Amino acid sequence: MARTLVLATRNRKKLEEMIAILQGLPADLKALDDFGSVPAVPETGETFEENARAKALGYARATGRWALADDSGLEVDALGGLPGVRSSRWGGEEGNDRLNNETLLAALAGRPRNTWTARYRCVMALATPEEVLATTEGACEGRITDRPAGSNGFGYDPYFRLPERGCTMAELEPEVKNRLSHRYRALAAMRKLLEKIL
Ligand code: IMP
Repeated sequence: MARTLVLATRNRKKLEEMIAILQGLPADLKALDDFGSVPAVPETGETFEENARAKALGYARATGRWALADDSGLEVDALGGLPGVRSSRWGGEEGNDRLNNETLLAALAGRPRNTWTARYRCVMALATPEEVLATTEGACEGRITDRPAGSNGFGYDPYFRLPERGCTMAELEPEVKNRLSHRYRALAAMRKLLEKIL
């Protein structure tokens, strides 16, 4: 029987991305919602890795299954790497993309545009209820723009430009984003590990 693997995120867009990338693995992919009311694991770490490890282990313990969790966010060079682990609540309200993007533009106002370089970073962690088995990492380089474009994706995507593609992340079709995103890169590395382990 295929091993159950809990994709430990409550973000529906992320869940869709994860399922698309992990399809075909010999695993029974489950969402957290399949397990009823699992309490949220707090993101109190100072790094993406700390949070990803805590979430994978916490959700594996809560569900009694192997769990895959990520922590991800945006790092802007002009801002010394902010918002980093605060990406989802930078504007003061968890998951409020509009407030987060307003906070981003306000923080960059007056700073030279050549310092608006940025990257999305993602760390994936795989855990059993006993221990973290592995972590992988992925990054995607770009620049912040104050001229948002596109309606795909989520979060900072309309403001995150991919210079070599000449568009923002939110202008990419989901299938294209899913082949170059930080999460794809971290997950592709995790998938290679899972192919060996499962
Ligand atoms: P997490 O859910 O704690 O990993 O927080 C991730 C946050 O980082 C999201 O709420 C977004 O604000 C931002 N983020 C992560 N990945 C992406 C992406 O692919 N596009 C846009 N924003 C992202």
